[in-house]
Amino acid sequence: MVKETEYYDILQVKPTASSEEIKRAYRKLALKYHPDKNPSEGERFKLISQAYEVLSDPKKRDLYDQGGEQAIKEGGLSGGSFSSPMDIFDMFFGGGGRMNRERRGKNVVHQLGVSLEDLYNGVTRKLALQKNVICGKCEGYGGKRGAVEKCPVCKGRGMQVLVQQIGPGMVQQIQTVCPECKGQGERINPKDRCDNCNGCKVVREKKIIEVHVDKGMKDGQKIVFHGEGDQEPDLEPGDVIIVLDQKDHGVFQRRGHDLVTKMRIQLSEALCGFKKTIETLDNRVLVISSRPGEVIKHGDLKCIYNEGMPIYKSPMDKGSLIIQFLVQFPEQHWLPREKLNMLEALLPPREDVMITDEMDQVDLEDFDPSEQTYRNSGGEAYEEDEEGPRTGTKPVKERNAGS
Ligand SMILES: [Zn+2]
Ligand SMILES: [Zn+2]
Repeated sequence: MVKETEYYDILQVKPTASSEEIKRAYRKLALKYHPDKNPSEGERFKLISQAYEVLSDPKKRDLYDQGGEQAIKEGGLSGGSFSSPMDIFDMFFGGGGRMNRERRGKNVVHQLGVSLEDLYNGVTRKLALQKNVICGKCEGYGGKRGAVEKCPVCKGRGMQVLVQQIGPGMVQQIQTVCPECKGQGERINPKDRCDNCNGCKVVREKKIIEVHVDKGMKDGQKIVFHGEGDQEPDLEPGDVIIVLDQKDHGVFQRRGHDLVTKMRIQLSEALCGFKKTIETLDNRVLVISSRPGEVIKHGDLKCIYNEGMPIYKSPMDKGSLIIQFLVQFPEQHWLPREKLNMLEALLPPREDVMITDEMDQVDLEDFDPSEQTYRNSGGEAYEEDEEGPRTGTKPVKERNAGS
């Protein structure tokens, strides 16, 4: 039991989630609520990042599970505060952190939805992206060369001091980034501004990139286009990072290199043998059959070698296809009583049970695990102690387990 579930709720996972599930949840939500895509969800992006920072670290997660948010704030964080959401994001998606960001333009991360078939067969997808490129007309100067002047609004400081009256005889000074030069300290005189980029030095451009999804790639895998990110004057352009997001498949589940599927078979097939077909992810049909005399039990696992997922960069090799058999039992009263005897004569014999008069005949009820089965018949409440609830009737007899 965990003390609080808020961080888990934010990431939309159960408190029992594996570290893989937590990573996957963060990946999906961080991309969805990143300020680039969802500028109005900054607060949510921050919460997602904080929840991930705690739950992705086994020590912090332990601390949180035991003591909740309070414990994290008191001792779980280095320096007592959360990391910046952007740093967490960059670290996760391989942006290289703050140092790198100052010398290079921003990385742009996009999610690409793919099917399990795409990952099995490989596919090429075209993706249209919007990105900033250096304005071709002014070559990134923003206007005529030499037209750059000291910002007249902030006088080159890049910051502006606003004086606000907050009460009688009381003023407050607020420092803000200069809106005219956006903190640059210099600007281009409006009459010399480049009319193509309006002095911004960059323009938005649509670019089509071809994404090659290779056989065997997996959910969450990144495909990096170096230098295809936003361009900014005097900076090396950042990267475009495509993150694969595999949609769930109706038949197969991937487990590493293996594919897992469930197959229903009838009781007769389980006992007397079967022949079945499976359609593969590249539309071939496999025929499988049991060996003569073989009995398949409910839940049994069988596998077919080399029919799992192709191995990334070695696609001639494949994992296994694992089949779990679900044996379908017949409905209640499917066979008239007199025929049951015929069936019984064919099945392995029953085990004999000795029943004596000292034994209690009791009723066998259907059990619903979600229901509380302890019924208080006498109206008198019994408190649970170390030995469990007392029944108040006869002492429970030692039961013969039938072994
Ligand atoms: Zn200014
Ligand atoms: Zn321009």
